[in-house]
Amino acid sequence: MTTLRSSNLGYPRIGENREWKKALEAFWAGKLEEAELLTQLKSIRLKHLQVQKEAGIDLIPVSDFSLYDHILDTATMFGVVPERFGYSGHGPVPVSVYYAIARGNKDASASEMTKWFNTNYHYIVPELNGASPKLVENRPLNAYREAKQELGIEGKPVIVGPYTFLKLSKGYEPSQFAALVDQFVPLYAQLLKELEAEGVQWVQIDEPSLVTSVSKEEFELVQSIYAQLNQAAPGLNLLLQTYFESVEQYEAIVALPVQGIGLDFTIGERSLNQLETAGFPADKVLAAGIVDGRNIWRADLRDKTALVNRIAAVVPQERLLVQPSCSLLHVPVSAKGEVGLAAELSDALAFANEKLEEVVVIARAVREGEAAVQEQLDNNEAVLRTLNESASRNRKSVQDAVAEIGKQPSSRKSVFASRQAAQKARWNLPFLPTTTIGSFPQTADVRAARQQWRKGQLQDEPYKTFIREHIAKWIKLQEEIGLDVLVHGEFERTDMVEFFGEKLDGFAFTRNGWVQSYGSRCVKPPIIYGDVQFSQPMTVEETVYAQSLTSKPVKGMLTGPITILNWSFVRSDITREQVSYQIALALAEEVKALENAGIEMIQVDEPALREGLPLKRADWEHYLNWAVLAFRLSTSDVADTTQIHTHMCYCEFHDIIDSIRALDADVISIETSRSHGELIHSFEEHTYELGIGLGVYDIHSPRVPAVAEMTNMIGRALKVLDPELFWINPDCGLKTRGIDETVASLRTMIEATEIVRSQF
Ligand code: GLN
Ligand code: ZN
Repeated sequence: MTTLRSSNLGYPRIGENREWKKALEAFWAGKLEEAELLTQLKSIRLKHLQVQKEAGIDLIPVSDFSLYDHILDTATMFGVVPERFGYSGHGPVPVSVYYAIARGNKDASASEMTKWFNTNYHYIVPELNGASPKLVENRPLNAYREAKQELGIEGKPVIVGPYTFLKLSKGYEPSQFAALVDQFVPLYAQLLKELEAEGVQWVQIDEPSLVTSVSKEEFELVQSIYAQLNQAAPGLNLLLQTYFESVEQYEAIVALPVQGIGLDFTIGERSLNQLETAGFPADKVLAAGIVDGRNIWRADLRDKTALVNRIAAVVPQERLLVQPSCSLLHVPVSAKGEVGLAAELSDALAFANEKLEEVVVIARAVREGEAAVQEQLDNNEAVLRTLNESASRNRKSVQDAVAEIGKQPSSRKSVFASRQAAQKARWNLPFLPTTTIGSFPQTADVRAARQQWRKGQLQDEPYKTFIREHIAKWIKLQEEIGLDVLVHGEFERTDMVEFFGEKLDGFAFTRNGWVQSYGSRCVKPPIIYGDVQFSQPMTVEETVYAQSLTSKPVKGMLTGPITILNWSFVRSDITREQVSYQIALALAEEVKALENAGIEMIQVDEPALREGLPLKRADWEHYLNWAVLAFRLSTSDVADTTQIHTHMCYCEFHDIIDSIRALDADVISIETSRSHGELIHSFEEHTYELGIGLGVYDIHSPRVPAVAEMTNMIGRALKVLDPELFWINPDCGLKTRGIDETVASLRTMIEATEIVRSQF
């Protein structure tokens, strides 16, 4: 390299109009032949390369494209296919087998899927048990050839590095890790040799696991991995790429025997501090992640230019690459189509394509001086100023309340024991009270009516009547089934965040801001762009209506501040902590409104609390402290007799149990059954002394469980938890289930409860 260049790490697969998603789904539905699928995907892939080329990116990633998921690509490229899918072990893994691993088929269940670090992307977990890996297809090489032949692009193949790949896989004991490394490194070496022989210049090897805590023994393995790979393909430039955080053990990592290191400079100043303190080896290239690949905001280009200039004081420009902080997989494709938004907002959005433009402008500003791109920088400054000075970002009352957050009520008036007594007298619930998590089946007619209403084809009044009919039907059903605490059923809600976002000030919704969540499933997160403010009651009407139909208590149902935060794109001019307090104070008003309207059991769901945990353990405490405070700000200003519930959908609980306790919710319900009751075990070691309901059946399956399964689950839980504080409920909301199976399962749940009650 002779001068500073621009690079990219990965481009969204889904297509500007989700063409990729549509092609995959058409194929799965049998409406597209395999050959046609592959043709369509190729044209999408080439278009994406073309876009990057036209944007002026110097180093364009290839083989980041996928038929489903890049970890599944890596596994299948090495022939790692669980036995149950019947792969011969020879030649490339057939497309049908590939998709069966991801989605299951009639004979075999799919591989597990899990979150990709702290993003909302999910990958397929490779199963290594008994695998005899070999390189059955050099996908990066094929992608490199294609880009060169079709478009004349000298691509940069992207692969997932051995350390991260093995860390993310399952089906082995920790003691087998080193042996697995020995098994896989030669395959990686072969892959790289083939790239070298082809004349590839740079290969990007993603090792995001290096930003988490790496033990000393494992780090020694990392050193040996890269020594071997470097030796295998000495003519190839290896770029060891990290992202989502600064690396642990900076000095040792930059000393690894590779030709380039990629670091993320968008997470505070951590990487910059490491660089300025410890320097950077004179024989390596630094790929600097400058433009945030995980938010949707335009970068402050002058600021970023200054940042690169600081980096360039340590690493000369000819050894420096400017790039996004991570793959652009995590942002939507193009902000061009967002015409329905206020200009102050739409002008300030940067999706993947706009981020690439930014990378190119910053690179030029550093290379040629700011004057060369004066107009772009001025324009950028104006756009950001307009947004920052807009009324939506300057709601004084909201900002004042958050500035004095310590003055807002964040503790209940009495401790749990006194509240418990007051609530017992107030509610007079039976031993082992029964309830559900909130939603009931969102059947086709419910979804259709909402669609019509949204499109204006159904007027407000008939739509309201329709919703009321469903509420009434389910109140009656719940009474018949014999539940103790009822819910209205959430029929009016699309999803847990959008519903609230649409009613709160400070949120916006894009037309085409889709990002891949897993496989072909895409989500369109709301954007929190202004100060969040309560403007009107959001849930009171439906809940009060439901309560008017029954003498049993109806539980109000809200999404908590941290879940709203973690499932949205969040403004970056103030901290996430501040935004969470804004949301919390708005929700506190809703809680008050419900209480004033006579709804005195209120559930505030926080299924995404855990998702926000920082990657570095040392940062957990800070996050958990403000997350807990946000929850408490929403739920504390109520009478002792008002019962606050919360809900979480995961069973990994033991390592954050102190924070869960600190939420001080009167009752928590948590998923238990999918983990075969593992959670119950954790209560042998940890006490929990507030109200708690461990889900007694899995709602993810249409199967109606037997009474004995539930009594068994309840019996085990009661051995480790105080029966006086124990609640009976399903694992999660029932919106994805059918009506009949829901009613049957709930009846079984009541039957099981009665059996256990009679034994006490
Ligand atoms: N109250 C929500 C429901 O029942 C909770 C959903 C969730 O935990 N993800 O649908
Ligand atoms: Zn749940």
